[in-house]
Formats: sequence, structure tokens, C-alpha cells
Amino acid sequence: MSTEPDRRNENVKRIVLPSGRTIEVISFSEVADELTGRYPAGADYAPPEGLHICPDCGSRLVYPTEWEEAGHEAWHVWLRCPNCDWERDGVFRQHLLDEFDEELDRGMEELAADLARLTRANMAEEIDRFVAALEADAILPMDF
Ligand SMILES: [Zn+2]
Repeated sequence: MSTEPDRRNENVKRIVLPSGRTIEVISFSEVADELTGRYPAGADYAPPEGLHICPDCGSRLVYPTEWEEAGHEAWHVWLRCPNCDWERDGVFRQHLLDEFDEELDRGMEELAADLARLTRANMAEEIDRFVAALEADAILPMDF
């Protein structure tokens, strides 16, 4: 039995249709890119959902811990999931990392928006408590 990896499988993408059926799509352009040396052989193919998805727990918070250039339009990236501590590294193509980068930007924007909402909610709660204390005459000039 051969231990050679099946080259064809590296270029097969599995897509789940809304009906639940799974189809396999073979990308010949990626095969051609690899044969012409446009991308280093062995460059990893990201999961169809994107690099930010943890394959172990499904968390959408996977982030890069380190990266370095690995040839033309490819990067060696170390990934980590903060939810389950899953880690891996691999060589990924520029376009996958561009998508990953956009996803990370989106995540940062969501976090910043959440933080702003939380800050406003905390301030509103504090103001309510302060008003209630004033109305109950629980705050006197000597408190300041
Ligand atoms: Zn995980």
C-alpha cells in the first residue's frame, strides 16, 4: 500500500448544500497553480468555512499566534483556538489569509461594539443607583 498522499484530495472541496447533501468540487486552477510552481507544494487548503473556525470545537475565535513568509504568496501561520486550546500550524496561501484577516477585523469590531454597549449599560446602571441614592437622601455633602 502506498503512503503517498492522494494529490487529488488536496484539491477537493466539500460543500454542504442547503438540502444537506454534500458535493465535492475539484479545483483544477489550484492544481495548475501548484504544477506551475505559483504556490509551494504542500500549501495547506483551509477548511471551506475559513481559518477562523476551530475544527475541534467549532469556535469562530481561532487567531494567529505567529506567522512568517513561506515563498511566493504563501505564509507559514501558527493558529490557536482560545476556547479549547487547539493549535496547529500550516502553510496557507495569501488569499486565504486575506479572508482570515477580514474575519479578524470583523471580530475586533464586534468586540469593540460589545465593549461600548457594556460600558454604556454599566454607566446607565450606575446613574440609576446614584439617582435612587439621591432620592433616598442617602448621599450627603460630606460624602464628597
Ligand atoms: Zn476550539
